[in-house]
Amino acid sequence: MRKICVISAKWIKPAVFALVLGVIALAAAGGAAAYASATIPEVTVVLDAGHGGFDGGVVSSQGDKEADINLAVTRRVKKRLEEGGVRVILTREGEGALGVTKKEDMQKRAEIIASSGADAVISIHVNKYSQSYRRGVQVFYGDTGTGGPFAKKLQSVFNTYINAKYSGRDYSALAGDYFIAKCSAIPSVIVECGFISNPQDLELLKSQAYADEIAECIFKCVLR
Ligand SMILES: [Zn+2]
Repeated sequence: MRKICVISAKWIKPAVFALVLGVIALAAAGGAAAYASATIPEVTVVLDAGHGGFDGGVVSSQGDKEADINLAVTRRVKKRLEEGGVRVILTREGEGALGVTKKEDMQKRAEIIASSGADAVISIHVNKYSQSYRRGVQVFYGDTGTGGPFAKKLQSVFNTYINAKYSGRDYSALAGDYFIAKCSAIPSVIVECGFISNPQDLELLKSQAYADEIAECIFKCVLR
């Protein structure tokens, strides 16, 4: 994640301009408050809560919908990133989809990503497996995208802080043909936060404490 470790080039000119303005204003007003408006956003992340509306995603045996879990987790990740000074853009802010068809919904997400100027895109999902024993957090990236290094770093953080604690199983970040991870040149990853088909993972996925653990891992990684 070379791009998010430094101030993006696009911010450098506005940053210098803002700094000059800040110094002039400070000299004129003679007050430190003039610097307050010269805050420079260094990192922007798009958070994409998967599914929504007509598309509930995977569903648990008790009827819990992935779309609802994705949105709840995304809101906690947003909170944590913003507390850490990261600028966050959401694709889906509410329960509804971004279009009336899956194609339209995905296209709308791609448009938001394309116009975001973000340093990274993180799509939040929940996994399902035919057998209930499987659990843990796994990261995916596009087979032709730029998300590989970020996905691998993120997976190692999840392995250390979450998978070692709950499932005892390490995963490797995997590449695949994922539209959301390939629709832009921005490093993009899909985080499958756990398995809706595993009773213990499902309980975790529905808890704010676990969403905050996911958020902390993402924040650690975005910082790096
Ligand atoms: Zn999903």
